[in-house]
Amino acid sequence: MNISEDVIRSVVAQVLQEVRSQPSRSPVGSAPPSLHQFQGRHGIFSSVDEAVSAARIAFEQLRDRSIEDRKRVIEIIRHIAQRDAVELGTMEMNETKIGRLEHKIEKLKVLAERTPGVEFLRTECFSGDHGLAVIEHAPFGVIGAITPVTHSLPTITGNAVSMIAGGNTVVVNPHPSGRLVAAEGVRRYNQAIFKEIGIDNLICVIESPTLETANQLFAHRKVAMICVTGGPAVAKAALLSGKRAVVAGPGNPPVVVDETADLDRAARCIIQGASFDNNLLCIAEKEVFVVESVFEAMMAAMERAGAVRLSTAEIEKLSSKALALVGEGDHKHWAPTKELLGQDAAKLAAAAGRQVDPKTELLFGETPESHPFVTVEQMMPFVPFVRCSDVDHAIRLAKQYEHGFRHTSIIHSSNVRNMTKMAREMDTTLFVKNGPCMASLGLGGEGYLSFSIAGPTGEGVTSPLTFTRERRCSLIDDLWVLGGKNS
Ligand code: NAD
Repeated sequence: MNISEDVIRSVVAQVLQEVRSQPSRSPVGSAPPSLHQFQGRHGIFSSVDEAVSAARIAFEQLRDRSIEDRKRVIEIIRHIAQRDAVELGTMEMNETKIGRLEHKIEKLKVLAERTPGVEFLRTECFSGDHGLAVIEHAPFGVIGAITPVTHSLPTITGNAVSMIAGGNTVVVNPHPSGRLVAAEGVRRYNQAIFKEIGIDNLICVIESPTLETANQLFAHRKVAMICVTGGPAVAKAALLSGKRAVVAGPGNPPVVVDETADLDRAARCIIQGASFDNNLLCIAEKEVFVVESVFEAMMAAMERAGAVRLSTAEIEKLSSKALALVGEGDHKHWAPTKELLGQDAAKLAAAAGRQVDPKTELLFGETPESHPFVTVEQMMPFVPFVRCSDVDHAIRLAKQYEHGFRHTSIIHSSNVRNMTKMAREMDTTLFVKNGPCMASLGLGGEGYLSFSIAGPTGEGVTSPLTFTRERRCSLIDDLWVLGGKNS
C-alpha cells in the first residue's frame, strides 16, 4: 500500500465518521430528504433535528418562489391570527395563567396586523463612473427562535411575519408554559399556508420544549441564525452560542416625571403602559422617579386617573408575597413570585390586605429607592414611586435601576433640556417622551411594531431587514447613463 492510498483511506474513514455522527443527515445509504418528507406535519415536531430539516426543505421551496408568494403567506398568517384571536388568546390565557384576556387577544391581533412585511425590504443602489452596484437583502435560511411565556403566540406570529418576509423559515423552541398555544397557532398557520401555496413547515415548533432542545437548536449546523426573546439567562446563552444571534433581552424601564410635566397626562400614560397585560411587556413602566416639588401632586393625579394607592404597610405585605430572594451566594437576587407574576391588580391588593374594585388596573405607592420593587423587573401591576430631590437625581436613579440593559426609558416633561439629558444618560434602545411605553412601538406613536426588541445585539425593534444578509451585485463600467465616457 502506498502513502497516498493510506491518506485516502484515513480521509474516507474520517468523512464517514463525521457523516455518522451528524444527527441531521439521512442515515448512510438512505435517500436524501425529499420535498415531501415532512409534508402534513404542519410544523409540529418532537425532534429538533426533524424540525430543522423540515424548515430547511421549506426554505428551499420558498427560495424558488416570488415575493408575491411571501406576501400571500404573510396575508394568511395575518388573517388567521386576527380571525382566531379570541380563541387563541383565550387558549394562551388559560395555559399561561398570566396577564389579561382582553390584552392577550389584542396582542395577537395587533402583531398580526402591524408587523411589517415584504414592503419593508428595500434595494439600495450606487451608480457612477464605474457602473452600478445594487445591494439587495437576502435570507439567512433557517432561523432558530426562542420565545417568552409573557407573549407566546404573539411573539411567534410577529417573528414569523418578519422572518418569512425576509425569505427565511423558522424553528421555535417556545417557553414550556406557552407551548400548547404555540403549537396550535403554528399548526393553523401552516395548514392554511400549505393549502394555499403548497409549502408546509415554514414555521416549525418543538412541541415539548426544554433547555436541552433550546441548546440543540442553538448548535444545529443547519440553523443559520438565532433570535431569542426572553430574560437574562436565555440572552446570555444566545450570546455564548457562537451563532449569529439577535438577542431581545430583559429590561426594567424607569420613568422620570419632572416639575414641568403635565401630571394628569403622565398618570394616564403610566397606567396605560404599566397595566397592559398586567405589566408583562418588557417595555412597560416598572418604576417611577418623581421630583420632590410635584411628588404629592403626581400621586394625586394617579388616583384621579383610577390607580389605587397602597400604604407603606400594605406595600410591605404585598412585597412579602410578591417578591422572593432566589439564587445562591453572589447570584442571590430578588425575583417575582410565580403566585403573583402577571396577576390582576385586585389579586395583588388582596395579598396586601386590601379589597379593591375588580376592575382596578394598577396599584402604586411610595417606596424608598432601594426597595426590591424598584430593583426587580416585577411584571405585575404594582408600580413603586420614588421621591427625588430634582431631575438630575431622578435621572441618576433611573440609570442605576435600569441596570445597564439599555432597553427602554420614559420621561414626562415639557423641558427639552431634561429630555435631552435623560436620553443621553440612559442610552436606551427605546426612549419615550410624554407617552405610554407602547407608543414607542408605533401604538399611539410613530414607527413600526415588533415584540422582539434587540438591545444587546443592537438591531433595535426587529423588522424583516433584521433577518436578511446584504448582497451586492456590481456591473462594471456600464448602465451609468448620466455621465460621460471614462478617459
Ligand atoms: P425566560 O427568560 O424565563 O424565558 C424565555 C425563553 O428562554 C423561554 O422559552 C425559556 O424556556 C428559554 N430559556 C430560559 N433560559 C434558557 C437557557 N439558559 N437556554 C436556553 N433557553 C432558555 O423569560 P420569560 O419569563 O418567558 O419572559 C419574560 C422576560 O423576557 C423578561 O425579562 C422580559 O423583559 C423579556 N422580554 C424581552 C423582550 C424584548 O423584546 N427585549 C420581549 C419580551 C420579553
